[in-house]
Amino acid sequence: MRSIGHFIGGKAVKGTSGRFADVYQPMTGDVQAQVALATKAELRAAVENAKAAQPAWAATNPQRRARILMKFLELVARDNDTMAELLAREHGKTIPDAKGDILRGVEVVEFVLGVPHLMKGEYTEGAGPGIDIYSLRQPLGVVAGITPFNFPAMIPMWQFAPAIAAGNAFILKPSERDPGVPMRLAELMLEAGLPAGILNVVNGDKEAVDAILDDPDISAVGFVGSSSIAQYIYERAAATGKRAQCFGGAKNHMIVMPDADMDQAVDALVGSGYGAAGERCMAVSVAVPVGKTTGDRLMEKLIPRVESLKIGPSIDPSADFGPLVTKAALDRVRNYVDIGVKEGATLAVDGRGFKMQGYENGFYMGGCLFDNVTKDMRIYKEEIFGPVLSVVRAHDFDEALRLPSEHEYGNGVAIFTRDGDSAREFAARVNVGMVGINVPIPVPVAYFSFGGWKRSGFGDLNQYGADSIRFYTKTKTVTARWPSGVKEGADFAMPTS
Ligand code: NAD
Repeated sequence: MRSIGHFIGGKAVKGTSGRFADVYQPMTGDVQAQVALATKAELRAAVENAKAAQPAWAATNPQRRARILMKFLELVARDNDTMAELLAREHGKTIPDAKGDILRGVEVVEFVLGVPHLMKGEYTEGAGPGIDIYSLRQPLGVVAGITPFNFPAMIPMWQFAPAIAAGNAFILKPSERDPGVPMRLAELMLEAGLPAGILNVVNGDKEAVDAILDDPDISAVGFVGSSSIAQYIYERAAATGKRAQCFGGAKNHMIVMPDADMDQAVDALVGSGYGAAGERCMAVSVAVPVGKTTGDRLMEKLIPRVESLKIGPSIDPSADFGPLVTKAALDRVRNYVDIGVKEGATLAVDGRGFKMQGYENGFYMGGCLFDNVTKDMRIYKEEIFGPVLSVVRAHDFDEALRLPSEHEYGNGVAIFTRDGDSAREFAARVNVGMVGINVPIPVPVAYFSFGGWKRSGFGDLNQYGADSIRFYTKTKTVTARWPSGVKEGADFAMPTS
């Protein structure tokens, strides 16, 4: 069986802890690999390597750093097919979806090729007599990222590309459920010419994460995963004086106004609600039709579409979505559907009994659709993270606006309408970080930035875009006076301009 260790100091190394986690192939249900779970000492070895390599990397001019990332992009393109298949086999998503996972990461690498420009500071000439002031953006040193299972290519790249472009060394702790692609990305960075020690992958679980949080040489931590762990990491990182940006779970609503193009809205709901088996932090999990007839029209079109979703193994190019990531995830999602039924929601489509012929042990589940879900139900309040869409009917626009605004999560939201006035008002007032207008999954392009609000995001800077360079650098401000402007004698009062 394949054994996955760590990638430290430019080399693949075996784990020494004697602790391992199974890596499943969700489409068959088989264990396909074992991944080593790191000890504190192994994490420390990665930090030592990173610390030794980082000063020379920071001193490499930014144009040259960008060139290595450019070469990395060529290598990712070269290996795109094999990497997408590896990703699909470990995660369960389909191959076209796995390619999307890689590409959305690649777009952030492309963005940070502009790092010489992005890292430019500011300059003021003549701030006082003979005084010029300028600011510098300098890397933090050694930084770390902890990533979730659901985007094993995209989210690692969102983190390590800006961090490394800015001159930091990076320690990646990927999800133990699908570590194959993160390891491959690190190998490709080395092949592209990245010095050994600048990108290390330490596989593991809570023990490795806690070692990162407590390590005095790690200056910043990026986290993406569930909200309770995001909050834990944010608090513990702050306690040891680290910078932290921690992104959590979601409950993304899609408002369907009475004037919306219903066919477009239904296409958007099935694609964004059930794509990747609902295991996306920007998946729409709540549809909010406004008005009774809108709700009835929506359900009439939605039910047959959910009933006819094509579920298949990840390697089937015609499948709409594949299995869930693990048996535990499958049991959890099925349990939520049971809870919804007990809570009194109407289960309009029940996918719990779905079995994939020829893949009976895979972690498959059919699409589920609930109608008449209400605000007090657990299936509305909690993140399900599976192919389950809840319809909450709203009487009017104000009620529809309040639902996502008052929800504890605030990642993404969408409104489908033909009316520019309501769309504009909705975008301005809704208390959520990313908004789509007739766009169901409003993940911003790489030159904007990604971040949810409320329990979907802890910390003050977003991922990628200009914010990422801010997060991975510190600002130094230099005030310089040259002797021609200096008057004689000491000055005891506070200098002012
Ligand atoms: P998770 O929280 O279980 O795991 C995320 C990471 O934390 C993994 O690397 C894991 O090893 C580590 N971890 C797990 N338990 C830990 C513990 N007790 N202490 C310390 N570290 C621990 O999340 P997941 O199941 O891998 O991913 C799904 C979640 O991620 C969903 O909630 C989803 O909404 C969220 N997500 C959010 C975004 C976003 O940008 N907001 C993006 C993708 C996924």
